[in-house]
Amino acid sequence: MNLTNIHPKVTPIYQTSVFKFASLAELEEYYTAPGRGGRYGYSRSEHPNTEELVAAVARLEGVAGGALAGVATGAGLSGLLAAVLATCRAGDHVLCPAELYGGSVVLLSNELSRLGIETSYVPLADLYDLARHARPNTKLVLAEILSNPLLTVLDGPRLAAACQAEGVLLLIDNTFASPAISQPFSWGADMVWHSATKYLGGHSDVTAGLVLARDPAVAQRLRQVGGSLGLTLAPLESWLTLRGTKTLRLRMRQHSENALAVAQFLARHPAVGQVFYPGLPLDPGHALAAAQLRGGQFGGMLSFRLADDTAAAVDAFVQKSQLFPLAPSLAGVDSSCSYPLATSHRYIPDERRRALGITPGLIRLSVGIEEAGDLLADLSQALG
Ligand SMILES: *Cc1c(COP(=O)(O)O)cnc(C)c1O
Repeated sequence: MNLTNIHPKVTPIYQTSVFKFASLAELEEYYTAPGRGGRYGYSRSEHPNTEELVAAVARLEGVAGGALAGVATGAGLSGLLAAVLATCRAGDHVLCPAELYGGSVVLLSNELSRLGIETSYVPLADLYDLARHARPNTKLVLAEILSNPLLTVLDGPRLAAACQAEGVLLLIDNTFASPAISQPFSWGADMVWHSATKYLGGHSDVTAGLVLARDPAVAQRLRQVGGSLGLTLAPLESWLTLRGTKTLRLRMRQHSENALAVAQFLARHPAVGQVFYPGLPLDPGHALAAAQLRGGQFGGMLSFRLADDTAAAVDAFVQKSQLFPLAPSLAGVDSSCSYPLATSHRYIPDERRRALGITPGLIRLSVGIEEAGDLLADLSQALG
């Protein structure tokens, strides 16, 4: 078969586990040349579809290195695993905000703790005081641009400055914002991590992760860890995620516009007690978000508390809504809702949950890219 005259405009899906070498010289080049001489050997280590995806996300995040800037992984959480294993060893300590995404808490506190990597949590508002909360063995701080589900806004530059002063690496989970509106490398993050299952993929049809590093040596470790543990993303999933990235900017504009319209609508609705969306001028995080996020956009995630702060009121909303199905993930082109009390915060003791603001009447919306008027009409009837 002669493929030399075929020039596909879009990179095909290289559904192959291994690549051929025509000679020992080619094999030698693969092992010794920088960037493997542009060759591929074994898909657990690298293949054209993940490399194209990593290069695309590196471009979106504004970090140098292209395909060498990091690794694409089989899920967001395997990206976190790669980031921690690439930078920490037994005896090291990871510091996180108490508001951290539940899956990250499980990975760090239940699994990595068994390998001797300890994690502790302080409220986000206190995290900036690293002189107080970092320990001699603190290696890494992990924080999120926007917290789940209450959309608390991180002061990224402030945290990055504190990390630099303490000589601690800063890993940012940029999932809720996406690189279309948030670029943590621009203010000093050392690593940026995504659940690409969310906005990067964008269509709720792929589970994937991405982790990138500013320092080429760390990026290389990410790739090594990804390859040696088989965390890497498969060809089809890489291809789908890459296709998602091509429309990221367009989608985020519409997600943000719709979410603002929904937040304004909910803020005026008598059945709603409180709305959490940094795009609202009265939101406590508004000024910080406006200074840090790009293009006057605040993303598609928001939460609200029903005036009747009960699970029964939430259930009535869920059963009536047509356009916000209860589906405990987020960031797809189609809207959805989730119920933090019974999903992300299910196993947290009730007292601590209340302290975090997770009450029975709290609903989180992932606002899609539908016509805003249709979304408002559906919310209106579901809350009626
Ligand atoms: C979903 C999510 C993750 C985990 O990603 P998976 O793709 O589900 O493994 C991490 N962080 C945040 C903020 C998320 O929403």
